[in-house]
Amino acid sequence: MTARIIDGKGIAQDVRNEVRKAIDGMVGRGLRRPGLAVVMVGDNPASQVYVRNKRRSCEECGIVSIAFDLPQSTSETELLAKIDELNADEAVDGILVQLPLPDHIRESAVVERIDPRKDVDGFHPYNVGRLAERNPLIRPCTPYGVVRMLDHIGVSVKGRHCVVVGASNIVGRPMSLELLLMGATTTVTHRFTRDLETHVRMAEVLIVAAGKPGLVPGEWVRDGAVVVDIGINRREDGTLCGDVQFEEASRRAAWITPVPGGVGPMTVAMLMKNTLEASFRRQQTDGR
Ligand code: NAD
Repeated sequence: MTARIIDGKGIAQDVRNEVRKAIDGMVGRGLRRPGLAVVMVGDNPASQVYVRNKRRSCEECGIVSIAFDLPQSTSETELLAKIDELNADEAVDGILVQLPLPDHIRESAVVERIDPRKDVDGFHPYNVGRLAERNPLIRPCTPYGVVRMLDHIGVSVKGRHCVVVGASNIVGRPMSLELLLMGATTTVTHRFTRDLETHVRMAEVLIVAAGKPGLVPGEWVRDGAVVVDIGINRREDGTLCGDVQFEEASRRAAWITPVPGGVGPMTVAMLMKNTLEASFRRQQTDGR
């Protein structure tokens, strides 16, 4: 079998087009354009690239992006004060604080300070709790992007055995909650899992987010499986690869995501969608 490619780049473009169209419609009805505050502390080069992508995406979708580039020396108290200010700002519908933060700032304190209605990353305990309770409000972007990809290729996970490799707060764990929400039989594996191979071999849908290049050899992939590789790793020659051995896995899987051009573009597209929806909800209810 030769796997069909799940074209994340193309699906992400569809999502951005839909968001653009919905925003044009909102503006046509006299509502204001959604506003996204993008806060970066320090000058981590990877964060700078991500933040630039997010701002460019906002422009394409018609979202007003408001940039706050704070110095590395910003204290936790100063950052929390900035968040309070953005929480109270009527023109701001979404607040994104680019992670990781400098070591002297507690990420959890920052994430918890964001008004859950403006938490477009979906990382606030309120939003994670809503997802866990099967009543999601704002959903973490990367897993939400995977849900959209599965929907696009017409794969239903209901009743099927899905295996997630990785259990981080921002990817693996919310991914497992999304799968449960869709009725999948869900196995979550992580660094303490014994015999990863046995679990991976059982996966009808395999979703990998460990950040370890080549962690999953192609021969572990079940025939006809759907393989979603969330990992993004930089090789020594500067090129990118995922966590799954792509060529070998492609010979066994029915569907597979490439890296790059797979899940990566979906994350930013779903951020745009979350911002649109947060804005729409706030404007429909006068911000309450
Ligand atoms: P993380 O380091 O926070 O978490 C990694 C997870 O993998 C942990 O739960 C750990 O227990 C697990 N793990 C490590 N070794 C393992 C092993 N041998 N067997 C099973 N599980 C193992 O990383 P993260 O933030 O979740 O990101 C994971 C990967 O996804 C990274 O490559 C990151 O760059 C990528 N990522 C991609 C996107 C995207 O948009 N496509 C978004 C976020 C993260």
